[in-house]
Amino acid sequence: MSQRVVLSQTESVCPICLKKITADRVKRGEAVFMEKTCAEHGFFEVEVWGGHLSYEDWDRIKEPSTPVNPATSVEHGCPFDCGLCPAHRQHSCCVLLEITERCNLGCPICFASSGDAADDPPIGSLLDTMRDLLTRGGPLNIQLSGGEPSVRDDVPRIIQEGKKMGHPFFQLNTNGIRLAEEEGYAQSLSDAGLDCVFLQFDGVTDEVYRQIRGRDLFDIKKKAIEACQKAGIGVVLVPTLCHGVNIGEIGQILRFAAEHIPTVTGVHFQPMTFAGRYPKGAPVNRFTLSHLLYEIEKQTGGEMKMTDFSPAEAENAYCSFSGSFLVDRDNTFRAKAAGKKSSCGCGSPLPKAADRASQARAYVAKAWKGTARTRPLKSVSASDTASLDDFLDTLNNRQLAISAMTFMDAWNLDLDRLRDCYIHIADGHRLIPFCAYNLSAQNGKTLYRHK
Ligand SMILES: [Zn+2]
Repeated sequence: MSQRVVLSQTESVCPICLKKITADRVKRGEAVFMEKTCAEHGFFEVEVWGGHLSYEDWDRIKEPSTPVNPATSVEHGCPFDCGLCPAHRQHSCCVLLEITERCNLGCPICFASSGDAADDPPIGSLLDTMRDLLTRGGPLNIQLSGGEPSVRDDVPRIIQEGKKMGHPFFQLNTNGIRLAEEEGYAQSLSDAGLDCVFLQFDGVTDEVYRQIRGRDLFDIKKKAIEACQKAGIGVVLVPTLCHGVNIGEIGQILRFAAEHIPTVTGVHFQPMTFAGRYPKGAPVNRFTLSHLLYEIEKQTGGEMKMTDFSPAEAENAYCSFSGSFLVDRDNTFRAKAAGKKSSCGCGSPLPKAADRASQARAYVAKAWKGTARTRPLKSVSASDTASLDDFLDTLNNRQLAISAMTFMDAWNLDLDRLRDCYIHIADGHRLIPFCAYNLSAQNGKTLYRHK
């Protein structure tokens, strides 16, 4: 029996009644669990960190940077006052704008529980929200999300208008079906100014898509990437990782990304959460960030090492990690910079806490924007040209940003992490941290979504 040590305390909620309760972070062996007890509903435990890396060593101090012009006040305490409230410790970096609840897939796993035939918000109200964001720490990076955002026909116009009012970076979170199937669609998005496609990409076999998304999709993914390549849009592959389904494809996903640079600019892993359509409870053992780091090292044969990655600077260390890699001619990986130089899906190494989110915005725009890459110089003496071109080409065009973000659900919600969150969902005038917005009790009751 391994030793049990209480490391620290935090706050969470009861997954049954969503009442706020205290929670212990408990080390058992090398793994760390959250343990908590609701007076009414009993004891809950969930793994929050696997044993492959030291939980304590991974931590780093995050300097708080309070929200600009908070839309709500502190009344019931975190997580019940999100808007943001003045007690939040991080202003916005990435804002998700959900432009539809409709979807053309109906996946077995979906945090948005989308697919219902609800009316889309009118473009006028979306533009109002984007205008309001300019007063709440904007201009911002906007992620158009859903549902499946491409089911709306006015996405190009939303991007055009948003750019006109000053938001510098637009990303489309999509399953890629419309990109793959509709000739000219990618080009219309590119013409409108779209900077990056966040492509659901769960694996390199149809079996994975059948299990997670309910149908074969691998060909669709390849066609979507081809369309983006022609239109000059950078693509970030976004795998949702599920135990027993696609953990074994992590290495192959990274190789696939290497084969598709420079159009594919990064891979952003998201371990699955148990919100939305997960009413029956959640497993104790989870695929955590430390498990993911271990699998990346193992499945790339050590070309990527756990120590090549570091926690994001602009948010809580236990929410995400990132690393930067060069892809050699034979598609092997080399770490670009080791140590604490860092960026999450959205972060970067920054001098001042107050500037972190804005510099993170600049970083993600630069790292993920396909068209920003330059061609190698063609000069210097003839004998050196080949190797220098090669070197510059690798530096400029053969980079991959590898990152991960692990969202929280009612079982593992840690309010220390939630207060540091900078991925926010725009809901009218309010900005709700992603994990608060998608939080749901076992019976499906939510705090924010559909309220
Ligand atoms: Zn309870």
